[in-house]
Amino acid sequence: MRPMAKLVSWSKRCDGWGVVVHGGAGNVDADRGPLHAAGCRSAVEHAVRALREGASALDAACLAVQALEDNPLYNAGTGAALDEAGELSLDASIMCGKTLRAGAICALPAFEHPIAIARAILDDGLRVLLAGDGAAVWAEKHGFSKAEAGSMITDAARARLESVRTSGESGAWAGGTVGCVVRDRHGSLVAATSTGGMVGKPKGRIGDSAIIGAGTYADNAAGAVSNTGDGEAFLRAVAAKMAVETMRSGASCSEAVGFVLQDIALRLNGIGGTIAIDALGSVSWGRTTRTMSWAAAAEDWDTIHEGF
Ligand code: ASP
Repeated sequence: MRPMAKLVSWSKRCDGWGVVVHGGAGNVDADRGPLHAAGCRSAVEHAVRALREGASALDAACLAVQALEDNPLYNAGTGAALDEAGELSLDASIMCGKTLRAGAICALPAFEHPIAIARAILDDGLRVLLAGDGAAVWAEKHGFSKAEAGSMITDAARARLESVRTSGESGAWAGGTVGCVVRDRHGSLVAATSTGGMVGKPKGRIGDSAIIGAGTYADNAAGAVSNTGDGEAFLRAVAAKMAVETMRSGASCSEAVGFVLQDIALRLNGIGGTIAIDALGSVSWGRTTRTMSWAAAAEDWDTIHEGF
């Protein structure tokens, strides 16, 4: 999938709590776009119900991302992209902008909700990033059960791997990574991202979604960001931290999103998408890909906005 480096973006002010989710930068067919946007809306609704009842940004972000991980349409949790061996190798990360605590897992085998494990690592506070079998052992020790891999692998994921194998590519963009940024009623910001990565990726390949600063970053003093796109480009740019630092230096949320995506397109030849919320409550998304499904809600809006 390549390119379109033209930036498309959207932003809106919000007071009180706010939430934005994405269902991955990519190239979804126009007839399937509404389905992807509806999944994002449903994830936002989970967060909205919780935020209305006074939930923390951490709880709301986890609820939204778990809903997306459960939806086989997206490349996260059930339905995630398969690696070169036809196995799940899941990446996820979450960061709290109030405490600057973070939790992340990478190359995790089949667990239903990678984001919940990343959250448990954040809550535990001793480590930030756990990988592979070690992450699985840690998760089981902390009350998570491994899933039957077959129950999380969909026919669509198998078919995508088959076509990558046939084409001889070494890893191809799957689209459908998921992410969420939230501002709760106390002004706390959280960012979270979850993915299966690229289709047919080599064993051991880790993308930006697991890496704090690249795929995910949050700081109450500036903003919160979740990215999706060319993982290697977003890693090289340390893109989520770059967007948050751009907000800290006085740029609006939407200026920061545009700056980072354009920088990645121009200097790293990478395309993708970003969602962001700032400390003052503006929300924004941008993409340099043809599509990125998204949905957003806020305390002072009459309606949930969505699109692809
Ligand atoms: N950034 C993800 C990765 O490289 C893929 C995506 O966002 O679609 O693993």
